[in-house]
Amino acid sequence: MVLIVDDNESNLFSLKKLLESKDFQVDTANSGERALGKALKNNYALIILDVQMPDMDGFEVAETLAGYSKTKDVPIIFLSAVNTEKKFITKGYASGGKDYVTKPVDPEILMLKVKTFYNLQEQNVAMKKTQQSLELEVKGRRESQVTMKSQIDHFHLMLESLPQIAFTLNEEGLVDFVNGKWYQYSNSERDFPETHPDDHNISEEFERCRKKGKSLELEVRIKNIKTEDYRYHLLRVTPVHEDGKIKNWVGTFTDIDDQKKVEKEKDEFLSIASHELKTPLTSIKAYVQLLERKLKLQKDSSEAGFVTKVLDQIEKLNTLITDLLDVSKIENGKLKINKKPTNLENVISNAIETILQTHDENKVKIKRDGILPDILIPIDEIRIEQVLINFLTNAIKYSPQNNQVIVTTFVDEEEQEVKINVTDFGIGIPDFKQEAVFHKFYRVEESSVQFQGMGIGLFICSEIIKQHHGNIGVSSKLDEGSTFYFTLPLN
Ligand code: ADP
Repeated sequence: MVLIVDDNESNLFSLKKLLESKDFQVDTANSGERALGKALKNNYALIILDVQMPDMDGFEVAETLAGYSKTKDVPIIFLSAVNTEKKFITKGYASGGKDYVTKPVDPEILMLKVKTFYNLQEQNVAMKKTQQSLELEVKGRRESQVTMKSQIDHFHLMLESLPQIAFTLNEEGLVDFVNGKWYQYSNSERDFPETHPDDHNISEEFERCRKKGKSLELEVRIKNIKTEDYRYHLLRVTPVHEDGKIKNWVGTFTDIDDQKKVEKEKDEFLSIASHELKTPLTSIKAYVQLLERKLKLQKDSSEAGFVTKVLDQIEKLNTLITDLLDVSKIENGKLKINKKPTNLENVISNAIETILQTHDENKVKIKRDGILPDILIPIDEIRIEQVLINFLTNAIKYSPQNNQVIVTTFVDEEEQEVKINVTDFGIGIPDFKQEAVFHKFYRVEESSVQFQGMGIGLFICSEIIKQHHGNIGVSSKLDEGSTFYFTLPLN
C-alpha cells in the first residue's frame, strides 16, 4: 500500500485517484503527525510526502520515520512546489528520502518513480523474508548439529565404557569405527584381530554372512598384542536395517576365555568319569548276563525275574554313560561318522523294531507313513538309528496319555534330500523353547520333574545330523503334540 501525505485535500484527492487508476492501494494522511501514526500501525511499500506542511514539515516526518525500525526502510518520495534549490533537495535525501519530485507534478514521471520504488520495496521485503527464513534454517541446522554431536559423543562414551571390544562396519563390510579396547588385539582400525591358526578366519566368515545379509556368531581365539596370548572371544556381528536395507553392521567381541576354561574342565571330568564308569559296568553286565542264563536253566526260579530286571536297569545305565561319552566325544571333535551307502528304510524299520521290543506293544503304536525311501544313501547306519531311537523314545516318553506315533518320510528330488518326521500327540513344547531343546543339557522346565532324563539326547542327534550335512528341527504345539524331523542329503 502507498501512503500519500499532504495538507492540501485536493492534492491528496487527485494523487489518490491517479495511483488508484494504476491499481495501487492507497491510504492518505493530511498532516505529518497523522502520517507518523499510520506509518507505525500499517505496512507501507512507499510514502509520498509533501514537504510544506504546517506544524510538522515533510523533512521532520522523514527524519522521525528513519528513527523507527519498522519504518526506517520505507522509501519516500518528497513532493514540493518550491524549494527546488539544490540545498533543499540534498536535505530531502539526507533525511532518509529516496527521491524528490517538484510540483506541478508530471503524472507520468511520478508514476514511473512510484512503480520503480514500489517494486524495489516489494523485492526488498521478499528478500528480507527469504533472509529471515534462511537465518532460521541455519539456526535450526546449527542446533541439530549440536544435538547430533552430543548424541555421537554419548554413543562413543557408551562404546568406550563397554567391557567388550565394539566396532561398526559400513555397508561394504569395512570397519569404520572401533572402541579403545580394539587396540588391545589389533594394530590397525581396518584389520580384524589375528585369530588362532586352528580357528575360523573372521574376514572370510563375515563375508559369507554379509553376502547372505545374516548376522554372524562365532567363538574364536584372538591374539592379545601385548601378551601374545590367545583368548577365547564370542564374536557377534549384526546388520542394522534402514528402510528394509542393510545400512551398516555392529559388532562385539566378548571375552569368554574363563568360561571356556571352566567348560573344558567340566568336559574333561565328564569324559574321565564316563570312561571310568563304563569299564566296571561292562563287566557287571557280563556277570549278570551269565547269572541270568544260569538261573533261567533252573525252572521255577523267581530270582531269574529279578536278574532280568537288574539287566534292564544296567542297560539304562549303559545308555546314559554311552550318551555322556558321546557328549565328550563331540566336545573333543572325536565323534566319528562312518558313512556307507545304506538302505534308509531298513534303518527306519530296525529302529521301530527295537522300540517295539523294549516297550509294551499293547500300549505303543507306531504308524509308518509317506513314501518309503527304498534307496541307498551315504549315512552312518548306527548313528542314524541312534537319532531315530532317540526321537521315538522321546515321542513315547513325552506322550503319557497317547502312545500313538507316526513316522513319515518324504523324498524331495529337487532339494536332493530325504526328510524323516516323527510325530507324537503328547505334551508338546512351548514355542520359545523349541530351539533350545537341541542345546546341551537343556530340558523344558515344565516337564523336567515329571519325566526323567539328562537333556543330552537331542544335542547328540543334532551333532550327528550336522555331520551328515542335514537339518534337524521341531514344530510343536503345547498340549497337542510335536513333530521332530531331520533331513539327509541323497548324495
Ligand atoms: P531328555 O529327554 O533326556 O531330557 P533330550 O535331549 O532327548 O533329553 O530332550 C531335551 C528336552 O526336550 C526334554 O527334556 C523335553 O523337555 C523336550 N522334548 C524332547 N522330545 C520331546 C517330545 N517329543 N515332546 C515334548 N518334549 C520333548
